[in-house]
Amino acid sequence: CGIIGILGNHQVAPQLVEALKRLEYRGYDSAGVATIDDSGKLDRRRAVGKLVNLSDRLVTEPLAGRSGIGHTRWATHGAATEVNAHPHKRGQVAVVHNGIIENFRELREELVAAGYAPETETDTETVAMLTAKYLDDGLSPVEAARATLKRLHGAFALAFLFDAHGDLMIAARKGSPLAVGHGDSEMFVGSDAIALAPFTDRISYLEEGDHVILTRDGAEFFDAEGRPANREIAQIDVGA
Ligand code: GLU
Repeated sequence: CGIIGILGNHQVAPQLVEALKRLEYRGYDSAGVATIDDSGKLDRRRAVGKLVNLSDRLVTEPLAGRSGIGHTRWATHGAATEVNAHPHKRGQVAVVHNGIIENFRELREELVAAGYAPETETDTETVAMLTAKYLDDGLSPVEAARATLKRLHGAFALAFLFDAHGDLMIAARKGSPLAVGHGDSEMFVGSDAIALAPFTDRISYLEEGDHVILTRDGAEFFDAEGRPANREIAQIDVGA
């Protein structure tokens, strides 16, 4: 029910949890984070229940890295278990998702027929599986995310992170709001500006159908037709 993504300059796991705390008001049943460490390895930690369970887990099993995504889940498809918690990771990609993928059953059948077996009960895992398949087919991370987004029906906000690509994050909005935060050689995405307030007050909003490609240098926005789009940066005061 809440999304955060950070391409940062510091160890990012504590910041991810801090941002998730600011999204707690939306309600959730489980939470998780994924990071890419400096060797390019994508790894994740998840926990059912309150955020303190996740932060306790991160004390005993720390996650290194300056790039990461985080999620608080309000389960719609699949029970509130650790296996079903986000981020979902398949192959070289990790995904966090708010909302519902209406056509996930059709997509999952297609993926099963292609030899990709689901490991969870969620609609979200299908997004990760589909992107992983496109990567296996030889598409680049950006191409694979775009090919995936074209296939999805429903209402969602999504953020993607890719193994061995610590300077890249892709996010998309269709029916669920998503904000981009502009830092100083750091970039952020979040479900709202409140989540990003500790890090930056310079915010752009994705419009309906947009996706955005983030690196530490900035954000490239694309509209629902895939055309480059200009999204203004506003100075927002939500009180850090
Ligand atoms: N439909 C997804 C799930 O149940 C995402 C739910 C959410 O928005 O947190 O895992």
